[in-house]
Amino acid sequence: MTLTLPFDNSYARLPDRFYARQTAVPVRDPGLITVNAGLARSLGLDPEILSSAEAVTSFAGNATPGGAEPLAQAYAGHQFGGWSPQLGDGRALLLGEIVSPEGQRFDIQLKGSGPTPFSRRGDGRAWIGPVIREYIVSEAMAALGLPTTRALAAVTTGEPVWRETALPGAVLVRVAASHIRVGTFQYFAARQDTEALRLLTDHVIERHYPDAKTPLDLLDAVTAAQARLIAGWMSFGFIHGVMNTDNMAISGETIDYGPCAFMDAYHPQKVFSSIDQYGRYAYGNQPRIAVWNLAQFASCLLPLMGEEEPAIEAATAAINRFPELYEAEWLKRFRAKIGLATAEDGDAALIEALLTRMAEGGADFTRTFRGLSDDTAASEFADPKACGAWARDWRDRTAREADPVALMRAANPAFIPRNHRVEEAIQSAVKGDYSHFHRLNEILAHPFDDQPDAAEYRAAPTEEETVTRTFC
Ligand code: AMP
Ligand code: MG
Ligand code: MG
Repeated sequence: MTLTLPFDNSYARLPDRFYARQTAVPVRDPGLITVNAGLARSLGLDPEILSSAEAVTSFAGNATPGGAEPLAQAYAGHQFGGWSPQLGDGRALLLGEIVSPEGQRFDIQLKGSGPTPFSRRGDGRAWIGPVIREYIVSEAMAALGLPTTRALAAVTTGEPVWRETALPGAVLVRVAASHIRVGTFQYFAARQDTEALRLLTDHVIERHYPDAKTPLDLLDAVTAAQARLIAGWMSFGFIHGVMNTDNMAISGETIDYGPCAFMDAYHPQKVFSSIDQYGRYAYGNQPRIAVWNLAQFASCLLPLMGEEEPAIEAATAAINRFPELYEAEWLKRFRAKIGLATAEDGDAALIEALLTRMAEGGADFTRTFRGLSDDTAASEFADPKACGAWARDWRDRTAREADPVALMRAANPAFIPRNHRVEEAIQSAVKGDYSHFHRLNEILAHPFDDQPDAAEYRAAPTEEETVTRTFC
């Protein structure tokens, strides 16, 4: 018996030069870590079947599921600003696409399934750490209401993966609206393959932005989607860590959870990624980097827009709308975070004043905002008096609001995937204990609920617990 899924593979119908057909490389001893039953059902899939031995065998790469047409997608990208003409799925395979009962199309992708023609010096594998991290953080992101790839299942391979030392290997089964990135466009633009650019543009318009009529419409739509996404990240203190152009999805979903983090103590220049030496992708730089990436995307579309002065001007104008769109989204989210449903002139200054005090006092981002609705915010500051004057201004302002507490409770999570908790889940998973992983997922599925029995998961890390670096 092999697993068969109702695949409909539109990407595999694109020309050969879009990908390399490749099957997963079998592993020694597949084992189930978990299946995301809720997500499975929302895709019209049976979680029981996805937990079966046949499914685990397929997810680990020892059999190709019926209906799948596995392939590694080709893409290029700017990594930390430096151009790489060929990246591509080096440790991932697109099995195929599933259309949900609501008619939405989703990629089903394996991550950690062995080498592909795009692996370069990599082994094509993932150890259990990144698999556990991506599972927890991507599902937390979804529960916070932000667009993101999802985790459908995780399996172990029964084989070691070498990362300075031997670590248990694992495969993540990931779901995405698509895995098409800015880097996918760059791959063809760099090859001056205008025909491929046209096909890719038609594909993403049909798939993600059916209202767009032209490449310029697409650029507008992607710009708006990224402005919304990044404002959402900022509102929860999320730092992606590797905002390379190959890690920016055209769909507007968060993709590629590598050395990412939700910060504890707030600082606008916070960096966690072990590979981000110069802080290019620091918290406060994310909106600017998005614009930089969108400019790369725009330049890929120019061959389809005429490349004359008017096209360049129109593309530039489209990207220049980002700051305005972003500011509006940011303000809406941060207004809600301090309990404001209405808009007044001084609101942005009031929010900025709080953030400045938080940065000075090293206040915990999540606890401070959540604390505004239960009067515990002041205790997050090393010097509680530091926010006293601000609090008086804020109370004057919220006095003109109907129900600030309800608004704040819906905008400020009590629970985020704190790095030390993710680390704890990883360290115990390495030893074969998934209890922390499961508990964390359960709690993070309801981030805005108080969950009194999970109070310890709301706590900021102690100094010894604090994680300052995250890894891919
Ligand atoms: P990332 O930093 O995750 O965006 O990955 C950048 C590129 O490196 C992509 O082409 C990945 O597929 C590739 N890559 C990352 N890790 C590995 C690995 N262990 N083996 C092969 N390729 C990898
Ligand atoms: Mg990537
Ligand atoms: Mg990655």
